[in-house]
Amino acid sequence: MELTPELRREFARSQGSIRTEKKAASSRENGKKGGRPLKRLSDIICNCDGEDLKHRSTCPRGRTIRQREKKGLPLDSSVCV
Ligand SMILES: [Zn+2]
Repeated sequence: MELTPELRREFARSQGSIRTEKKAASSRENGKKGGRPLKRLSDIICNCDGEDLKHRSTCPRGRTIRQREKKGLPLDSSVCV
């Protein structure tokens, strides 16, 4: 049987749509990490001259702190660079 370009395309398509257990496991693993690594709080702009975790509600850093507390995320991650 000859492998025509059409057949090759069809084959590639079918391969691409297969959801393997390996892929599923890898997605789960990524999901556990909560997606992207967190930014350091010190990298988030502060416009209220607050210190540590005391920031105004209008301060981007303060809002991030509140968001992370709500989601139960670490406030600062030493893992991220
Ligand atoms: Zn601030």
